[in-house]
Amino acid sequence: STVLAGYGLVKKYDSTTALAGVDVEVHERDSLAIMGPSGSGKSTLLHTLAGIIRPDGGQVLLRGDRIDKLGENRLSALRRKRFGFVFQFGQLLPELPAEENVALPLMLEGVPRKEAVERARRWFAPLGLDGLEHRRPGQLSGGQAQRVAIARALAVEPDVVFADEPTGALDQRTSDEVVRLLTSVTRASGAALVMVTHDADVAAHCDRILQVRDGRISNYSPFTVA
Ligand code: ADP
Ligand code: ADP
Repeated sequence: STVLAGYGLVKKYDSTTALAGVDVEVHERDSLAIMGPSGSGKSTLLHTLAGIIRPDGGQVLLRGDRIDKLGENRLSALRRKRFGFVFQFGQLLPELPAEENVALPLMLEGVPRKEAVERARRWFAPLGLDGLEHRRPGQLSGGQAQRVAIARALAVEPDVVFADEPTGALDQRTSDEVVRLLTSVTRASGAALVMVTHDADVAAHCDRILQVRDGRISNYSPFTVA
């Protein structure tokens, strides 16, 4: 079934049309890679689906409910509870041990510290992070830090994980390992994954690839649009 959908999405910045009418559906446990040249609208599409940017036209639906018209408070609460985010780098708090970085989104949701840390620790083994619970981000490799960021995105057990160039700062081998874990652990958790990447090898780990060009979908595999 469809977890997240955007229909007729339009976004304009002054003279630039960043999204010119995009339709996209993300199914349960599905992973979707958004690819395309720089400036084609990939980030705008991801941010619009994630309720960070409001579209000028069209609709965003989460499990059939429109979210693009929600008030700012309800929308930010929804983002914290139902969405997880992984960015390129620099998203972990440097002064906190890895397990507390992962526990933080749970604590923001009101889960008591001890329980939050316990729940956070459960993500370490599946992501190959056993034994690194007490390390600070500065004591982790780039790949380890990204895996901690993935654990943090999954901690609240979101409906959708959004990843914006999650392997952009990694070498190819590390990148491959990180995207493998990102797709498999996210799927096992029951969440859907929406990822922006310029790397075709990274995108190949996803179930579907959506090509964006000039704010429009130019290709959608496995279904090819003329
Ligand atoms: P991509 O992620 O594919 O590089 P973006 O979604 O960042 O593309 O940008 C799409 C187009 O919209 C680009 O022409 C970009 O310059 C423009 N754009 C994006 N964000 C803004 C903004 N906040 N203000 C003005 N123009 C923007
Ligand atoms: P990415 O590398 O992920 O495509 P960009 O470098 O295009 O990201 O954009 C980074 C941020 O700057 C985004 O939040 C985007 O909305 C904003 N942005 C992009 N283009 C412009 C622009 N022409 N004017 C203002 N802000 C922009």
